[in-house]
Amino acid sequence: MTAKKPQAGELDAIETASRDEISALQLQRLKWSLQHAYDNVPFHKKAFDEKGVHPSDLKTLADLAKFPFMTKIALRDHYPFGLFAVPREKIARLHASSGTTGKSIVVGYTLKDIDNWANLVARSIRAAGGRAGDMLHNAYGYGMFTGGLGAHYGAERLGCTVVPMSGGQTEKQVAQILDFQPQIIMVTPSYSLVIAEEFERLGITPDQISLKIGIFGAEPWGEGMRAEIERKLGIDAIDIYGLTEVMGPGVACECIESKDGPVIWEDHFYPEIINPETGEVVADGEDGELVFTSLTKEAFPVIRYRTRDLTRLLPPTSRAFRRMGKITGRSDDMLIVRGVNVFPTQIEEQILRDKRLSGNYQIQLSRDGHLDNVEVRCELQREAAAQLSPADIAALAKELQHHIKTIVGITTKVSVLAPEAIPRTLTGKARRVVDERPKQL
Ligand code: ADP
Repeated sequence: MTAKKPQAGELDAIETASRDEISALQLQRLKWSLQHAYDNVPFHKKAFDEKGVHPSDLKTLADLAKFPFMTKIALRDHYPFGLFAVPREKIARLHASSGTTGKSIVVGYTLKDIDNWANLVARSIRAAGGRAGDMLHNAYGYGMFTGGLGAHYGAERLGCTVVPMSGGQTEKQVAQILDFQPQIIMVTPSYSLVIAEEFERLGITPDQISLKIGIFGAEPWGEGMRAEIERKLGIDAIDIYGLTEVMGPGVACECIESKDGPVIWEDHFYPEIINPETGEVVADGEDGELVFTSLTKEAFPVIRYRTRDLTRLLPPTSRAFRRMGKITGRSDDMLIVRGVNVFPTQIEEQILRDKRLSGNYQIQLSRDGHLDNVEVRCELQREAAAQLSPADIAALAKELQHHIKTIVGITTKVSVLAPEAIPRTLTGKARRVVDERPKQL
């Protein structure tokens, strides 16, 4: 594929601004955002006061390091609306993402926030090579998840014809792509390969597929997978990054002309990389945990939000903003299964609901073709093992599988084993997750 360089006038002025102009805008917006959070969200006021800082202490961008961090725990503790900085009546939309336990975390947007989000996703699609008039097949899930609607509004904003397909129903996805002939697809990278296989099964070769660009995110993927997707679908595969707490998809996106890591839309999100153990800010280029402060968000400002994503900041190339490297891991135990965020504790909660099971369990992850498989292995209590028939045990497994599906949102295979069948480690510390999926390089 030949990468399209944007034409003069196609970019937002800030995308090609000088570093001084960007820093000046960031400083002005950062002051506003800190003050807004401090004045309107008791959680932020308390955290600032406890740390002995006031929004007026921010004189330079580097002063942000004096301010307190925010983690997912704050979202859990203030569920559902406790961190909103505007009255509930001013919230135009809610979205949710996985919490560390069975309850999700909730975020809100004002109309202006949704407008900014649409602009940033439009900017992302344009960076990926999309243009007004293109047709975009959106196979991200619609609903509380930010992927579907986030991509949808951005594609409309850019002037694309949107096909709001949502996830699943692979045969229908493919039939619709063949009928409508879209140029762009947005979907998780792993599911794009399932779609590619369906094309293969039908004997349709890459040159017969209308798609030219794929914009993929929501889960880690590497250069190996990029090459495979590009070859199988005959497209340019572009990486888009985002997270619900900060906005949703479109916090950062790669440019088609360089494909060298997502460009962070720094005019709306101020990035820092910290040492996850000490909390110290590290220099650009060094590995650590990515932290974001929102610069324009009204409803749900985030101040130094710890994403737990491990990566590094890279210098600008195709745009004036810095880029992020590939995500190399997480500084917490969150798993990403078929694009869905899963915390082991969410599964644990469901196991502990059933008194016939011991609290010992193991989550085994493997990859079958392109998709993740999850087996939840748990053990019967001694007493239950003596009383239950094989049919009872099968019913128990089915019930647990159903609870995990409805509450955590992923399909699993549940294996109910004999008491003490799950190996204990020598240290006595349970090994809850065995991840045998190949690493994405
Ligand atoms: P999303 O819709 O992006 O999945 P979530 O809030 O559900 O939003 O999940 C956010 C998390 O998903 C991020 O913190 C990161 O771990 C992962 N993620 C999102 N996009 C990417 C990407 N392009 N590459 C790697 N991981 C990603």
